[in-house]
This record gives sequence, structure tokens and C-alpha cells, in this order.
Amino acid sequence: MAKQALIAKGNVKLCDFDPEYNGGMNKEDAKLQTQAYREKLSLLQTKLYADNRYSVLIVLQAMDAAGKDSTIKNIFTGLNPQGIKVTSFKVPSLEEASHDFLWRIHKAVPEKGKIGVFNRSHYEDVLVVRVNNYVAEDVWQARYDHINHFESLLEANNTTILKFFLHISKEEQKKRFEERLADPTKHWKFSSGDLEVRTQWDEYMQAYEDVFRKCSPKHAPWHIVPSNNKWVRDFVVMKTIVEAMEALPLRFPPAEEGLDKIVVPD
Ligand code: AMP
Ligand code: MG
Repeated sequence: MAKQALIAKGNVKLCDFDPEYNGGMNKEDAKLQTQAYREKLSLLQTKLYADNRYSVLIVLQAMDAAGKDSTIKNIFTGLNPQGIKVTSFKVPSLEEASHDFLWRIHKAVPEKGKIGVFNRSHYEDVLVVRVNNYVAEDVWQARYDHINHFESLLEANNTTILKFFLHISKEEQKKRFEERLADPTKHWKFSSGDLEVRTQWDEYMQAYEDVFRKCSPKHAPWHIVPSNNKWVRDFVVMKTIVEAMEALPLRFPPAEEGLDKIVVPD
């Protein structure tokens, strides 16, 4: 097995990537560091918003129960809600389904100054759609190029795209489903359809590997995150977002001329 990293980019064979990996970190340290990054993120978000020239799009994909919802909650708690826009993509509505697959996605892309979060995304159209043969093969095959072109368009419009795959093991998913079934406050999160998707695990892994291979251009690679441990997952996602935003040339807009001479009247 290749030497594991806390995050892998792009071309990855998922069976070589241990979802249990923690990079030698311990939980307390990781949580402290995640908190320190959260404070940085809060400042960066204010600057992104004030600057109003760039936007950030975070795409989360994963098998059921890998923690897309709790990652969103844990990363963005404490940030200014005005600057965040979360969109969860479900089975397309009739209206959505009667357009091209990127129509609903493009409408949800964050405007300048904002962080957009996609809980599932346009990648469902080469994942669930492919695994279940919802469209013919030539249709989903053509979508990788459409996606790459679409993401280049966003990039050219100053959108930084960060794509995360939260990787859990099949055993971990079983454990989490059992927890959901045992806890009445989590029953709403469970649908029996999730078990059918679970039986297609290997086909999904294959579909994900194709996504990583075909849709990881330099400006928008996939980040594969070991996610059996929630604290590793949160740390890795948080750190990646903060570092990407620190690399943007963000600045507060120049002040109006003569502000230093202004006296606020009584
Ligand atoms: P959840 O994220 O648990 O609320 O479930 C949303 C469901 O919508 C999942 O089963 C997804 O696979 C499904 N879904 C999302 N996008 C699509 C799509 N483009 N085509 C078909 N199903 C989709
Ligand atoms: Mg679900």
C-alpha cells in the first residue's frame, strides 16, 4: 500500500486509501487546531465579503452517513450567515429534470464575496445516475467534459473551487446506520433506500475513482479525506479551506477619500 497522506489529490484508488488514517494526530490536538483555523476562517470570510471580488465554492460528496451534514455544521458554525450559502441537491424536481444537468447547479453558485457550500452536487449526475443507469452511457460519459468546462468558467470568474470526498469504510457506514436506527432523534436521517445504495458500494467506488481521475484539473482537484474519525475529517477540511483562502489576494476595499478629515456631527 502506498504511503498514506492526510489528504490525497486527484487520481486515487480508494482501496489504497485508509479511511481510518489519522496522520499520527490525537483528537484533542486536532480539535484545538480546528478551532484555531475556525477563527482564521471567520476573519477570512469577513475579508472575502468586504473585498467582493472572489467567491469560494465548496463541494461535498460522500457515501451516506459519511458526515456531509455534520461537516457543514462543524466548519461553518460561528461564521457570518450572510456570507454563506448552503445548497443541498436532492433528486431533481420536474422543473430541474427538464433542463440540462448543470442548470440547477449554476443557479446555486455563490456570487462574489460569498462562500457557497454544495451538499451533493453536479457530480451526482455521474455517480447515482451512472450506477443506476438513469441515462444512457454516452450521456453520462459526456458529462465529465461538461463538468470540467463548467468549472473552468467558474474559475475564470474568480471562484475558487474546493472539492472534498469524505471517505468512510463500509464497516463504518454500517456502524453509523445502526446508530441512526437505535436513536429515535436520528430516524429522520435514515431511509431504507440507503441500504440499496449500500449494496452498490463497489460500483460507487468505481464511479468515484473515475470522477477523481477525469475531473481533477490543477485549479480544482478532488481532495480525498479519511473520514472514519470525525475529528480528522473536520481538521482536514477546515485546514484545506483556510489555506486556499489565505492564498487569495484578498484586501479590504480602499476607503473613501478624506475619511481621516471627517468629523461625525453631534
Ligand atoms: P440526502 O442527501 O440524504 O438528502 O439524499 C438526497 C438524494 O438525492 C440522494 O439519494 C442522492 O443520490 C439523490 N440525488 C441527488 N442528485 C441527484 C441527481 N442528479 N439525480 C438523481 N438523484 C440525485
Ligand atoms: Mg440520506
